[in-house]
Amino acid sequence: MNTVIDSKNISNSQSTVLTIYAHADDELLSVAGTMLLMSQAGWRIHCLFLTSSGQVNSDIKDTNSQETETIEKLIGANNQFFDFEEGNLSKQAAIKVIEQAVQRLQPDLIITHSPQSEKYGHADYEITSIAVSHVAYRQKISLWYSAPSGFLREFEPNFFVDISSTIDQKVATVGSYDSESDKTFLQLDSILVSSRLWARELGYKDGYFEAFHLSRHCTDISFFNAWANIKTVNKESTTAPIIKPKILTIHAHGDDEVLPSAGTLFLMAQAGWQVHCIVLTDGNHSSSPIKGLRHKEAVEAGKLIGSTYEFYSLDENKFTAQEVIKVAEELIVSWRPEIVITHAPQSERYGHRDHEVCSTGVSNAATRKRVSLWYSAPPVFMRGFVPNLFVDISSVIQKKISAIQCYESESEKSFMQLDAIINLSRFWAREVGRLHNGYFEAYQIDRQCVGANFFSALVKR
Ligand SMILES: [Zn+2]
Repeated sequence: MNTVIDSKNISNSQSTVLTIYAHADDELLSVAGTMLLMSQAGWRIHCLFLTSSGQVNSDIKDTNSQETETIEKLIGANNQFFDFEEGNLSKQAAIKVIEQAVQRLQPDLIITHSPQSEKYGHADYEITSIAVSHVAYRQKISLWYSAPSGFLREFEPNFFVDISSTIDQKVATVGSYDSESDKTFLQLDSILVSSRLWARELGYKDGYFEAFHLSRHCTDISFFNAWANIKTVNKESTTAPIIKPKILTIHAHGDDEVLPSAGTLFLMAQAGWQVHCIVLTDGNHSSSPIKGLRHKEAVEAGKLIGSTYEFYSLDENKFTAQEVIKVAEELIVSWRPEIVITHAPQSERYGHRDHEVCSTGVSNAATRKRVSLWYSAPPVFMRGFVPNLFVDISSVIQKKISAIQCYESESEKSFMQLDAIINLSRFWAREVGRLHNGYFEAYQIDRQCVGANFFSALVKR
């Protein structure tokens, strides 16, 4: 198969998103609103379709059909079609053409079908998703899955885009697919229902959203500059103007916050975020021989990373999820954070019992209070932790080390050792293809909501 893609105007300097779907129209219900936002923000948009769905007869080409031309115009996307046989996609052949397209277009982000099994969707979706994921992981490119257009089984959204400002254009775009207009999922009702479904999940009384599963996303400080302007999903905060965006970390013990997050918190403080760290216990049941210093050490670490601290005296090894829920709810109401970070929900089999209980309580409160929620990496065993956000902390690795070293009372622990800290930061760098020159922190985003300005702020300048 001829796989030449028009390479005119291709350069690394412009932010580029590549959507890859099995059939033309697959992208519309799930992604059109977001693509419109990205296009308006100055992203270059390429849509690749693995089948031509009867629209063209020869090898790959820009289709001249009126419909796709209209869509290209409406979204500002450059559409390309391959001519794989519908219902008979070959994974290996798909991987080959996707690799070539990625090499040519050098996207910053790839969006494709959710990896939903054939039980619930078109056979082509599953193959496409596997092939695209394979290439994105191998080439270390950020990868998002869009919501299935039919059944939502196996889809776990963790990233929501407010498309209220583009919903009318989305409807117009979908409406221009006359040839597909009989399909249930392309009816006006269906588009509105699915967009409102996510608004409901986020606790908005009005508004339209698209949902994604962030499989992996790699970022640097621009992310936090962008998020300094995110639209809040915290209902409590809608009555009061937000002056500085806030991030709240809630962990069981002093040092639980700096080990996985000191670099990111420092970057956020630099980007203008207000960083507030909560420590639930005094840490005096630690196996460390030195007691009673943890809070003082935390405050010292806070001075380095630009965060304030607040301490609770829950009963270590005994506090309950209900106690954590109460504390977290009060903090969310009084602080009105945009994002809450807590322990990853790792079972006690692999970590500290307090971490699991803290994670459960904070997750419950954050979800009910509609606050974006991230999980930080466990200190030792990584079982059950599925990172999807990698933050480049190369410029502040020394600051992270210094913040961790403030916890002298814990300095004998294996995970507090300098080479352990460096190793883990470099392990995440390896995951994103930056082993030789980078240090990263990893998070599992459980839910995050962004608006139009998120894409503007991320655009390369
Ligand atoms: Zn701990």
